[in-house]
Amino acid sequence: MSKREFQTEVSQLLQLIIHSLYSHQEIFLRELVSNSSDALDKLKYLSLTEEPYKSLPFDPRIDLELNEEAGTLCISDTGIGMNDEDLVSHLGTIARSGTKNFLANLSGDAKRDSNLIGQFGVGFYSAFIVADKVEVVSRKAGEETAWRWTSDGKSGFELEPAERATHGTTVTLHFHEEGKEYANSYKLREIVKKYSNHIAFPIFLTADENEWDETEKKSIKKRTTKQANAASALWKRSKSELKDEDYTELYKSISGDWEDPLLWFHTKAEGTMEYTTLFYIPSKAPFDLFQADYRPGVKLYVRRVFIMDDSKELLPTYLRFVRGVIDSEDLPLNVSREILQQNRVLTAIRTASVKKILSELKSVAADNPEKYIKFIEEFNRPLKEGLYSDHANEETLLDLIRVKTTTADSWTSFAEVKGRMKEGQKAIYFITGQNATQLRTSPLLEIYKKKDIEVVILADEIDEFVFSRIEKYQDVELKSVNKASAGDDLKDETTEEKREALTPLLEKLKGVLGDKVKDVRQSSRLADSPSCIVTDEEEPSMQMRQMLRAMGQKEMPDAKPILEINPDHDIVKKLLASTDDSLLEDTAFLLLDQALLVEGVALDNPSEFVQRLNRVLNRAV
Ligand code: ADP
Repeated sequence: MSKREFQTEVSQLLQLIIHSLYSHQEIFLRELVSNSSDALDKLKYLSLTEEPYKSLPFDPRIDLELNEEAGTLCISDTGIGMNDEDLVSHLGTIARSGTKNFLANLSGDAKRDSNLIGQFGVGFYSAFIVADKVEVVSRKAGEETAWRWTSDGKSGFELEPAERATHGTTVTLHFHEEGKEYANSYKLREIVKKYSNHIAFPIFLTADENEWDETEKKSIKKRTTKQANAASALWKRSKSELKDEDYTELYKSISGDWEDPLLWFHTKAEGTMEYTTLFYIPSKAPFDLFQADYRPGVKLYVRRVFIMDDSKELLPTYLRFVRGVIDSEDLPLNVSREILQQNRVLTAIRTASVKKILSELKSVAADNPEKYIKFIEEFNRPLKEGLYSDHANEETLLDLIRVKTTTADSWTSFAEVKGRMKEGQKAIYFITGQNATQLRTSPLLEIYKKKDIEVVILADEIDEFVFSRIEKYQDVELKSVNKASAGDDLKDETTEEKREALTPLLEKLKGVLGDKVKDVRQSSRLADSPSCIVTDEEEPSMQMRQMLRAMGQKEMPDAKPILEINPDHDIVKKLLASTDDSLLEDTAFLLLDQALLVEGVALDNPSEFVQRLNRVLNRAV
């Protein structure tokens, strides 16, 4: 017999599971049954495709055996099994890379953390929520020796050779005092129904149960074995047969989430290609949504045989929050990961699935706006990523995302913004930046406020990337107010008159500011501020440049802002009349620097700014 220690993270995770899941104890059974079901899925696949597995007996079933007196429960399966190495690596270490991330994400707040663990799926270790000793006897398919793994869930585990008649795994839980409430056949049956009813394999429960005896004419305890689940691949059944509870139960068993899903879409495609998809949208964004090594949530089946659940190819990255099942009638069973990427059938299913998900979301937006806003609160951001990466669905995505605007504090759609356009308004305008509050007070918006034109506020860090490539919403141009040309739309009859008067000043300012600016121009977009900065059509904005630099992008072509001057502002009018060149120089720089500051751009030389400011103040007081 050999004694081993757990990897540090395992001990950490175990402590956490035991302490934060006391209000969700019953999930231990769901987790263990789903491990058994996975093990059966794996062997089923191999027994259809590969020697020596093809010639092994395959009698898929999961058995729960309760011994009330001893306070033990065995969960057995006839699946793929584990050998000694597997036991050490699967049950003694944490192989999954996401787990470390997960542990790093914990807050110490038990309620929040237990929700996180819920989403994460605690797996095998949940056995220790109800047991103080767990024994695993397993024999790997195709091998002769079996192994016993035993642990008290504290420091480590023991490993020794054992006996097992056939391949598969038996997990024996020795319930602790509190766990004993699960040593109850009625309760176990209920939990199986609740979480594992639609596991594709039969689950049998063996226990001592009171049964009517005809000869004795009374109820006596008998050892009986009864199937406890429906064991149907739910997604293969017709929608009309299925109740909301059926869908919710399947969602929980495949996603590990214990909250109900927000939405689901069940589709059966027939014709040139036959497949079934059942997609779920979770109520809350998965904790790893913005991590590069996120866990994909869609399982691929071929004719009900489980193929894989870790492929990021099944749906585009921006839909990584979708959970569910794709079951194809046309794919070969032995599709490999490499083939998957270029498989025509799968590409077609993927394209159709994306269309389906998006069009269903569109119907929800129309029919159930309240629910849709819940969806938006969680998943607006990934949809915007789609705008960037999925050109084929640009129009739909533009209809699906929601934005805030200068006049709408709650979520609104581009369709609604379009509907509210003013007579003669040439485009839908938007402003991008990192801070919504700051954006709302930007001088670039002054004229729009004055003219009562709604401007879309885009403050997600990806917004500028995304919206710089979208030219239109339906037939209306989308224009960034940060860009020089948006100002052209705002010119009026007086613009030309003012230009003549302003030109000499513009020339002087250009001379003073030199290569600090690309140009100095007359502005048509300012009301209360003397100046603002804008960028040329093709160039990233100053904020975006600042962000790219912060992200480590060093080689950026030197772009300079265009300084716009408000001809109607008092400072500008006085400057026009002034002949004081030193004042002109300070004011020129102050006009530029203040415009940069309001847009949240850091100054190259703040102390110079302060010196100039003080010189001007000195003259004023
Ligand atoms: P997960 O199932 O999420 O990968 P678990 O902690 O539940 O994490 O299990 C870890 C690994 O142990 C599984 O990935 C699987 O390889 C193995 N395992 C667990 N239970 C069984 C079982 N009943 N039969 C075969 N392998 C199992």
